[in-house]
Amino acid sequence: MKPTLVIVGRPNVGKSTLFNRLTRSRDALVADQPGLTRDRHYGHGRLGRKPHLIVDTGGFEPQAKEGIVHEMARQAEAAIAEADMLLFVVDARAGLTPQDLVIADLLRRSGRPVLLAVNKGEGMDRAVVSAEFYELGCGTPCVISSAHGDGVRELVDLALDSF
Ligand code: GDP
Ligand code: MG
Repeated sequence: MKPTLVIVGRPNVGKSTLFNRLTRSRDALVADQPGLTRDRHYGHGRLGRKPHLIVDTGGFEPQAKEGIVHEMARQAEAAIAEADMLLFVVDARAGLTPQDLVIADLLRRSGRPVLLAVNKGEGMDRAVVSAEFYELGCGTPCVISSAHGDGVRELVDLALDSF
């Protein structure tokens, strides 16, 4: 079985941009509007040494009780259930948000292994950018830029190391 890496995080952090880079596709919609990805999107990972699957999820707002946002969270939870590894994406430019902390808690409770990716980190000092995200309790943050590709290959290699 190919390991399945599932991309999670709140809306607009760059999950679909990462998905597109990992799968070298344009399948996932990338938008300035948060939450355009409502369903799960599956793709074959093209980077990394071993065959693997990538899943993109919609924005994750666990508190939403109804509507599209609730449906997106439901989809994300279903995706987490089938994950071998979670790629938890946060936004270097926005910094740590309360929503990130809620999601981190949920991911930890899923019992799945988590890799923390601090996206939009191009042109920023890695140590400075990482510092505040240790608080998420998801291990050492990997600073990446999905838009430019920085650190993405390393992230995949790290994710696949345990399979
Ligand atoms: P999603 O809602 O998490 O799937 O986020 P998207 O992939 O749709 O991206 C949201 C916005 O962030 C878009 O305007 C992207 O162009 C932008 N974005 C994504 N990755 C990066 C990055 O690495 N650097 C910068 N500066 N912007 C990015
Ligand atoms: Mg998206």
